[in-house]
Amino acid sequence: MAEKLSAIKGMNDILPPDSARWEWLEGKVRALMQRYAYRNLRTPIVEPTALFVRGLGEVTDIVEKEMYSFEDKLNGEHLTLRPENTAGIVRAVVEHSLLYDGGKRLYYMGPMFRHERPQRGRYRQFHQIGAEALGFGGPEVDAELILLAADLWRELGLSDVRLELNSLGQPDERRAHRSALIAYFEQHLDVLDEEARRRLYSNPLRILDTKNPQMQGMVEAAPKLIDFLGEASLAHFESVKAILDANGVAWRLNPRLVRGMDYYNLTVFEFITESLGSQGTICGGGRYDYLIEQVGGKPAPAVGWALGVERVLELIKEQGTPLPDLSPDAYAIVPNEAALLPAMKLVQTLRREGVSVQMHAAGANGLGSMKSQFKKADASGARYALVFGESELAAGEVVVKSLRDGQGGAQVLRALDTAADWAASLRA
Ligand code: ATP
Ligand code: MG
Repeated sequence: MAEKLSAIKGMNDILPPDSARWEWLEGKVRALMQRYAYRNLRTPIVEPTALFVRGLGEVTDIVEKEMYSFEDKLNGEHLTLRPENTAGIVRAVVEHSLLYDGGKRLYYMGPMFRHERPQRGRYRQFHQIGAEALGFGGPEVDAELILLAADLWRELGLSDVRLELNSLGQPDERRAHRSALIAYFEQHLDVLDEEARRRLYSNPLRILDTKNPQMQGMVEAAPKLIDFLGEASLAHFESVKAILDANGVAWRLNPRLVRGMDYYNLTVFEFITESLGSQGTICGGGRYDYLIEQVGGKPAPAVGWALGVERVLELIKEQGTPLPDLSPDAYAIVPNEAALLPAMKLVQTLRREGVSVQMHAAGANGLGSMKSQFKKADASGARYALVFGESELAAGEVVVKSLRDGQGGAQVLRALDTAADWAASLRA
């Protein structure tokens, strides 16, 4: 036998029955996006590397060390597997002038790629669902997006998710804060770890995001950006909070919340759970009014979030939510080869009538005994067995046998040529 090949480390196969949870989640998201009038936009998985370098900022974890970048062997182009989808959405919106007739509300779902150390809730290929509202500058859209995410947790039956909010203000306010921050860190050089020292002048804000316990106390007492915000920024933030309050969405201020990407301004937020250990952030987002211009578009405001599908699904599992039941309505049992043709004809009619039917099929050693076929029918979870016995078929009929009411199971004879009339009786 040839040597077995395995999936790449940190990249997972999503197998049945687990995949049923994925489809269920995706269905909930589609329905919810429709209710909020967000439209689906699908961008390529590979983009020019420059898009992420320009869009995310050079001194970010992603661009510094997490991107799968490569050179196209055929034409030398510098390409990257998308580590996130906001930059791609913005590129597409600019490329196709989608904002020419006003703002757009968009969503996406799909795989993202980051070269990180794989662990629970952290993979190299993972999946995000994201919502973006582009061309809208008011706080009501920030709030709408947060309400949308909060509604999703409700739809998915998730409790134990808390919302943290912060405002990053505008570039001039950030600059003033940045100077104060650098001055403060310079007074505490002895406490800064190597990474923090490296970032001291390139991206001091990120130092606030440190996970180093030795630096927590020092970071806790650092100058807070919120104290540097002007009137307009504060008013925007107050409006967002007022809409959340009016809709009963609880939040708490986290003045240290800065988010990984450089492109954020004003509102930033994260949804966090305590139930997943250190990978507890299930969704993060904020306003990014300067990204569109940075990627070469006409300046336009925007706001959005992305959630980690693996983490959300892990939380759903953690809460003991059962798997969606994908059992077919019926299992078709074929005692012999001659029954295959009429059986498949009937099964097709039933399927067109909306009945879910699992057709018995021959393995390497033929169709197998009736006993083994009934075992498979039971294992499938079907409520009915359709038994295509020789004498019944000769009479133009099929046996419909209940598999779920114990002691042998009631059975009835049904005419093959009126299947459309009795199909509904098999449906759940
Ligand atoms: P973290 O701080 O956990 O690395 P992040 O700030 O890099 O998160 P974002 O870029 O904001 O994450 O992505 C949005 C969401 O996508 C995260 O909140 C998380 O749920 C999920 N996510 C990010 N990276 C991964 C990964 N490597 N594996 C699985 N999920 C991820
Ligand atoms: Mg990260």
